Amino acid sequence: MTTQEIETALGRLPRSRLCSYATPTERLLRLEQSLHCGPVYIKRDDLNGVGPGGNKVRPLEYLLGEAVQNHCDVIIASGQENSNLCSIAASACCRLGLPCILVHNNEPPQNKQGNMLLNHLSGAEEHYIGAVSEKERNQYIERLVTDLRSSGKRPYVVENGATTVRGAVGYIHIPLELEKNREQQPIYDLFVPGGNGGLAAGVVFGTALLGGPFHVHVITVENEKQELEDILHRLLEGLEKETGLVPAVPADACMTVYPAYRGAGWGIPTQESDQMITTMAKLEGIFLERIYTSKTAWGMCDLLGRGLVQSKGACLIHSGGFASLFYQYQS
Ligand SMILES: *Cc1c(COP(=O)(O)O)cnc(C)c1O
Repeated sequence: MTTQEIETALGRLPRSRLCSYATPTERLLRLEQSLHCGPVYIKRDDLNGVGPGGNKVRPLEYLLGEAVQNHCDVIIASGQENSNLCSIAASACCRLGLPCILVHNNEPPQNKQGNMLLNHLSGAEEHYIGAVSEKERNQYIERLVTDLRSSGKRPYVVENGATTVRGAVGYIHIPLELEKNREQQPIYDLFVPGGNGGLAAGVVFGTALLGGPFHVHVITVENEKQELEDILHRLLEGLEKETGLVPAVPADACMTVYPAYRGAGWGIPTQESDQMITTMAKLEGIFLERIYTSKTAWGMCDLLGRGLVQSKGACLIHSGGFASLFYQYQS
């Protein structure tokens, strides 16, 4: 399918536009020289300009689009106190004029830093419910929804960190934007983080719809390889149903999942990923954070630097998380 045909098909789903696209793509000449490899680009999805910017803006456009279509009048998002999703949801709600409730399974903070500070400044209604499990947090949200409904409100819940099939639709636009720009910036290999898998699934699905102009290298930052592959397959199947579009090439042929850069798991940096933060800052003046983007960038640099991926044009998708950096180095 062409980018135009795909955009037309996606245009049938409700979407609340939050910013203008495409996000900028830049060449990383100094990083490239240090790696002795072919051209390396970075797609600055971190610069999309809603709140701290980054990853969760694209899914929120489709999720909040659904909320607006259903005449919802209060949005509930949840996560750990320093969740990137929460602060982006708070800012996105401000932009749409919708009240936002954030539910954090943490004790109330002593002082607010990173995303917490932004949530506070955005005027979100913050519920700190103590250090309970995710399951208990969801039960709290269920009760909250019931209470809000009985007082005449129409709440909309952003589920699973915005990683739902509908949310993943937002990321299909990433390969479309890169494809439209191919003459100026010829890119063949994309490097993306795999957390809950929404970003990776959307990028892989869009790539497959286009007939496979890219190979998507997914760096797992959370799950084992098999676990993430299972999550991706479920999301990819869901995306076919949700969009009514069937890829011309199998999605599996467009992606490789790498488990080697995750270290001890989600949120636990490795020596190499921390080193990557200073390398990227010093060579390119670009900041990464410790959970997603530094591991993904390190995976890309290791694969390119050792020649395990030989690319005529590689591109790191910078998924943002800038505000969380201040928290990550404090705690
Ligand atoms: C949530 C997040 C991701 C991971 O996205 P998934 O869709 O959950 O895989 C990547 N980078 C940043 C900065 C994020 O906040």
